[in-house]
Amino acid sequence: MDALPFWESQIVYSRGVDDYQNVCYLIHFDGPVGNSKAQHYLGFAKSLPERIAKHRASKGSAITARANKLGIGWRVVRVWRNADADAEVALKSMLPKNLCPHCNKRVERQKARLEYQSSARVA
Ligand SMILES: [Zn+2]
Repeated sequence: MDALPFWESQIVYSRGVDDYQNVCYLIHFDGPVGNSKAQHYLGFAKSLPERIAKHRASKGSAITARANKLGIGWRVVRVWRNADADAEVALKSMLPKNLCPHCNKRVERQKARLEYQSSARVA
């Protein structure tokens, strides 16, 4: 068993959404969306490619549908593998904006450190 919580041990950036199953994912919007001025969406998906396709088709969530309608761009900026609905709740409690590598350079540095720890442990 990995001693780290799943969201630290399984940090992956989406360089393409190939075969990601059972993931939490973070979407960053290029501009504020709707009345809540949301900049992020955090969700759970059994299949990320299918879920993203739904978001693109404005059938994944109200907020991505709204962004699509307004012409506000968005992308998946972070993915946590081996996740479940509990993980989604835990991540949402950490506030998505604090988890976004696009908005927060500290997350970028944290990721680099965790990747180093991860490779050091395997070696
Ligand atoms: Zn962001």
